[in-house]
Amino acid sequence: MPIAVGDVRARQGNNEIAREAGRLPISGHTSRIPKRVPGVGFVGNRSWDLRSALTLGTVVLLAGEQAASMGARTGVLRADTTLPSMPPTGGTSPLVAVRPQCVRSVPAAASIPAAPLPQAFHPDLFNPLVQPLEMLANAEALAVAEESGGAGSSLLWQGLAAWFASPCGQLDSYVNGFWKLQHPPGREIPTRFAEMRHRASESLLPLAQQASAGAGGAEAALAATWAAAADPAGRRWLHFQPQRDAITALASRADIEQHLCEGMLRGQESVLGLQRFFLNGVLAAGFALGSPDGAVYGLPVSHPDALAYRDRIADLLRTSGMAPTDAAAAADKVLEMERTLAQAPAQLNSYTLSQAQAALPGFAWQTVWQTLGLDPMTSLYITMESCRKLDELLQQRPLADWRAFLQYHQALRAQRYLLGSTEPPARLEQLDESRGGRLLLSAWYGQRMAPALTKPALAMFDAIRQVFIDELTMSALPDADRASLHAALQAVQLVFDDAGQQVPWDGFIGSASHLANMQALDALATRNDLVIIEGPADSVIAGPAHHLSLGTNVIDERVMLSPALLDSLERLGSSREERWGMLGFMLGHEIAHLLGEARDLSPEAEALMVREDTAIRQRIGDMWIDHTHLNATRVQEEAACDLRGISAARRAGQAEAEASGEAFDLQRFFLAAAGLHAANPTERQLRRQVAEDDHPPGPFRAGLARFVQGFDSAFGCTPRPTQPFEYLFPLRDAAADTTDPNRG
Ligand SMILES: [Zn+2]
Repeated sequence: MPIAVGDVRARQGNNEIAREAGRLPISGHTSRIPKRVPGVGFVGNRSWDLRSALTLGTVVLLAGEQAASMGARTGVLRADTTLPSMPPTGGTSPLVAVRPQCVRSVPAAASIPAAPLPQAFHPDLFNPLVQPLEMLANAEALAVAEESGGAGSSLLWQGLAAWFASPCGQLDSYVNGFWKLQHPPGREIPTRFAEMRHRASESLLPLAQQASAGAGGAEAALAATWAAAADPAGRRWLHFQPQRDAITALASRADIEQHLCEGMLRGQESVLGLQRFFLNGVLAAGFALGSPDGAVYGLPVSHPDALAYRDRIADLLRTSGMAPTDAAAAADKVLEMERTLAQAPAQLNSYTLSQAQAALPGFAWQTVWQTLGLDPMTSLYITMESCRKLDELLQQRPLADWRAFLQYHQALRAQRYLLGSTEPPARLEQLDESRGGRLLLSAWYGQRMAPALTKPALAMFDAIRQVFIDELTMSALPDADRASLHAALQAVQLVFDDAGQQVPWDGFIGSASHLANMQALDALATRNDLVIIEGPADSVIAGPAHHLSLGTNVIDERVMLSPALLDSLERLGSSREERWGMLGFMLGHEIAHLLGEARDLSPEAEALMVREDTAIRQRIGDMWIDHTHLNATRVQEEAACDLRGISAARRAGQAEAEASGEAFDLQRFFLAAAGLHAANPTERQLRRQVAEDDHPPGPFRAGLARFVQGFDSAFGCTPRPTQPFEYLFPLRDAAADTTDPNRG
């Protein structure tokens, strides 16, 4: 099929052709920064709804805070000014939603000097809130706009921008402007997902506290662990005593080697540790050096930092039971041994048992494989150079040095659990930070929450897949390509993260020692890892059910979704439109990835898809946020998945509503989709994201919904010169017998 460059926009793209002919930049080539749309003119045109009232309230309260602080600085206000009670509001007034205590948590605008600010508003500043809103619009808000001078960084300006934003021109501000006011920029870019993650971990706590010992399985294990962690008696150093005794009993090099290997299976690793990376085991020696950044090992022995580190070693040796007189000398030995291990470069290579034996003869490889129960042909990734150092130490160092070394390292790991806080949030955090605890939380959360959450998601996934399949049938792709893409779509599965389900939790016997419990959990995690490492090569690697995650494995055609993400999305909104606008959008995005990555198309089909890509780049290439321009080439794939995801979700959602005879509110759908990617980066962070990230940064992603078919009519926007994105594949235009890539 011949494809001329001129065809690309021939049908819908007349505008681009005309612009190009007139030597005007077409979409994707604009280099000029667009001017900020002057917004104040909109004020008379908007109906008063809750949103406007909220905006206005925020603006006025922020103005109040600024005025109050100014008043305090000039001595107008007395220092003991207190927060007035809420002004009386009518039962039906939208102002009920304006809560000063919420607004007060918004940090002050950057322009205010760091003088101590009064945390109160002058009572008079609340009077305007009970005035008729029309009056406020004409007087207060405009006055505030003047005061702020339109400065881009001021919160006042942001509030105004959110208020005046039009969905047609500034979709991100319109949808996420308020959210940004409440989530000011920081070192970490505030995003909706970060917020969801935070809330998800917060909502875990009350659930965990209800875990019952009578429930059996993971829940009983959690209840037992939880109770021991709360009891200060479960955190005494005497619980470390059995471990110390075992170290004291070591009488030969072979004993030490056996101890190192068995430690991996008991959650008591020192020097040697087994970890899992996807399906592979990683055996690392020296991974547990005492100084986290290793900087101390490069310092001269007499350097104050090195001396301080040595003293910390001595302290811990004493705390964990060594005679005070021995501790100082033992600490020197421990540090020397750590220095030796730290010299090895961190480098991983894959070895079977015989390969490892050939690489480093004399090392206890047989013991490693045997203790872990691995097949001799199973490869492990090994830090061979650090094993070489370890071997040197085993040969050269006397047993006494080794005992001190092992005691220090195991005490170092134990101390995390022994010294930790017994407060519930800290207990939960500690569980989630340990391998075994994370697995336990995942198993328990999955059993408890997943069934109710996952069923509707599966139905949505099937409906969206059907949209893709239906459209594939109508597409202009050659038959063979349609067949292979059809097979790929049929094969794709939605799988839920459920790490820890296979662990035999009923065998977990909780003890009164928190340390013993945590080590037993880590041991279960290691055994679980070994099952995966030895398991079939197509095993599903599930993440923790209680963490937020979504991803696609294009090789095994699985979309992985965590139940906690489902729960978080439901909390954001559970109307039909919100479900499809958020979860539906995300699932559609992932299915689209699969098509993009897994396609092995004929040159003809490839050419058609390339034209699709070009059309998509042209659509998104004109996007600006303030002074930052989206790099359409870099984010092509992700943006295309977003556009396809929104488009497919919209149709699947509409079909569902139609089937039940209900209306589908498109505005609500698009707002939910745009709200999902709320983010508030600084200009510098945004620029860096644009330069480095293959995903469009949040503010751009939020704006993508504007390009999708149905948006303009839903919001009454003037249509764009380019045709909205509608179809997921190049479409056959039967009447003209041509293909039409521009429809999406
Ligand atoms: Zn993606």
